[in-house]
Amino acid sequence: MPHDPRPATHDPDGRQTRIAALGYDYAAQPREEVAACNLCGSSQFVVLTTRDRYGYPAQAHACERCGLVFINPRMTAQAYERFYDGVYRPLVSAFHGRLIDATTIQDEQRTYAAERAEFIRPFVGGAALKTMLDIGGSTGVVAAHFAEAFGLQGTVIDPAPLEVEQARRLGLETITGLIEGHDFGRRRFDSVIICQTVDHLLDVAGTLDRVRDLIADQGLLFIDIVDFRAAYLRNWSVEDAVKIDHPYYLTQPTMTAFLERSGFEVLRTGFAADHLHVSYICRPAEPERDALPAPEQVQSLFREIRFVQNTPRP
Ligand SMILES: [Zn+2]
Repeated sequence: MPHDPRPATHDPDGRQTRIAALGYDYAAQPREEVAACNLCGSSQFVVLTTRDRYGYPAQAHACERCGLVFINPRMTAQAYERFYDGVYRPLVSAFHGRLIDATTIQDEQRTYAAERAEFIRPFVGGAALKTMLDIGGSTGVVAAHFAEAFGLQGTVIDPAPLEVEQARRLGLETITGLIEGHDFGRRRFDSVIICQTVDHLLDVAGTLDRVRDLIADQGLLFIDIVDFRAAYLRNWSVEDAVKIDHPYYLTQPTMTAFLERSGFEVLRTGFAADHLHVSYICRPAEPERDALPAPEQVQSLFREIRFVQNTPRP
């Protein structure tokens, strides 16, 4: 069924009207089935929801075995490329009812960078790090802050040309593109940061494997997630925690398993000041290819989702 925004009478804050005015036809975008769970490879899924926070007919599935949540079917890489080139920021702006673009996001990114630098600091001292790769580094605000704070040479790779241009102006080395498609040759980095990005990837496992190859033996990885549980608990709605911009919905158990499988040991986990993001500082270790969330963790996720879906907001 095509996306059918509710009439204005049921749209007191104008959100649905603003989203409809963008004219983005999600249902007409090319999409592909996700046949195997990106974390554990299983094909046993539970359909959790059938629309996202914008009202688009996107299904969120959960893997029955490991509890990984993801959009399925999801847009092809080309459809996502078009989405990021002119739809994504206007859509988020329409949702929030204020302008959010490559300029306005920088204030928020600066605050986040300063806060997260303090989380990272204890692990950087004495680590003799020289270089840093920021994957999905957007306008470079976070990379520039870390580069300055820790004396690192920063490189940003991001697919959005307008945002990469801002990063270049901050004196960072920039690469316009996706980590999946860029050939770094024999280059290695002493530190890698993946900030507010992992939820946007199409292949989390493949990207983390790639990062493991790109990071120096004594290197550090900083990565953060939007904690799916935090997102549905704060809205008391699973649908409102799902958005087509995020192919993946990670939790502490699924993110930890992804990291262990790709060969990263978590040194510290941190809840960000926004109470929504969870950060990890990691170092390379032997891959644990069979790492998975415990079955009890998977069951408690499903129980909690059903509880939130069927109980009035506390
Ligand atoms: Zn799975």
